[in-house]
Amino acid sequence: QVVKIIRKSETAGSNTSAQPGIMDKRVGVLGGGQLGAMLVEAANQLRIPVNVLDVGHSSAKQVSSIGTHVEGSFKDREAIKRLAAISDVVTVEIEHVDTEILEEISGTVDVQPSWKTIRTIQDKYAQKQHLHEFGVATAKSVALETASIEKLKKASNILGLPLMLKSRREAYDGRGNYPVKTNEDFKHALKALGGNKSLYAEKWANFRMELAVMVVKTKDGVLSFPTTETVHENSICKLTYTPARGVSEAMNGKAQDLARKAVACFDGKGVFGVEMFLLEDDTLLVNEIAPRPHNSGHYTIEACRVSQYEAHLSAILDLPLRQEDLELREPAVMLNILGGEAKDSHLQIAEAALKDRWLKVHLYGKGQARKGRKMGHITVCAPTISEAERRIQPLIDLVDKGTP
Ligand code: ATP
Ligand code: MG
Ligand code: MG
Repeated sequence: QVVKIIRKSETAGSNTSAQPGIMDKRVGVLGGGQLGAMLVEAANQLRIPVNVLDVGHSSAKQVSSIGTHVEGSFKDREAIKRLAAISDVVTVEIEHVDTEILEEISGTVDVQPSWKTIRTIQDKYAQKQHLHEFGVATAKSVALETASIEKLKKASNILGLPLMLKSRREAYDGRGNYPVKTNEDFKHALKALGGNKSLYAEKWANFRMELAVMVVKTKDGVLSFPTTETVHENSICKLTYTPARGVSEAMNGKAQDLARKAVACFDGKGVFGVEMFLLEDDTLLVNEIAPRPHNSGHYTIEACRVSQYEAHLSAILDLPLRQEDLELREPAVMLNILGGEAKDSHLQIAEAALKDRWLKVHLYGKGQARKGRKMGHITVCAPTISEAERRIQPLIDLVDKGTP
């Protein structure tokens, strides 16, 4: 038996031919990974239907039964059109999508954030140029016209060594990055980042720490979550600490301002993850922006009044949202659970975490683990950040030791 959710527009007396009301809108999401899944989990509480486009039984489809499952790749034009046809607002949980088709469907369906924003951000070099135009500080970058030793040498003359060679597109979890320390590394770097892909070189950032701020763009303006400290290992986010440890009130204010300024120069509504470098000399630079909820905002689920996923839905659906709603309720540490040596390493970590029920375990249901693949995360909140650190330490030790 199928239970039908009654939307407001279907109740007696309402005019079904009118525009859907706020509580009636169907959200379509390109991508069904863990970010999509946590977005669906937030939508489920309000019974907002979320239609998920991805292949197979993706993370998000596992937790969605109110919306429709659209089969296909989030890069497939026809599949995106099918999603658009059954949605009122289309959004993304990944920026590596076809923006030509988003531009096309934006004539008939609300696309948030704007396809222009996604198009600029998905090319990391174009993103840096855009930020530069709007006076937002980033690491100096040089595009390589061709992926050749000659052009890389030219870039290194401008930027100095070490530098970070980066893929302009399709990058995530550091997979498009190669640190170039000496001239000897040129060949390996070009080989590692694959043939003739579009590349750019970035000046090495001597950072003291990395910070991130989830910024929310609503119809009325720009709001921001607390500043979080991110710790990366091999270019993959490992831990986040909120509030950021050892960051002064003044520096925190600067990070908040920079993140808001960076997001304000893009069109559209939704959550944006802003990653920043805090350099040794206290300079703050934007590393990159994600036009969607972000790994370093997972902590908001337990630690803030409103999570980044609820905030994203609120922004794209024009639900009420104020700055005070994003405040931290309790300090939090988040630890990513990555795929390890054994197929079930991530499950062993999850099981160990359940010994302390202050630790909130999230598993993404991705099935087979690959080494370094994000399989889940753990968040712990406590009255002080040091208590949260103490509680999560056994899990960090387990991760560092490597499961058998
Ligand atoms: P994400 O999964 O966050 O999208 P990504 O693959 O786009 O990651 P970046 O954010 O560019 O990669 O870089 C990943 C990490 O590598 C950074 O968080 C930082 O630790 C390091 N890194 C990146 N750029 C530089 C740089 N210019 N100098 C020094 N370290 C850097
Ligand atoms: Mg990135
Ligand atoms: Mg990054």
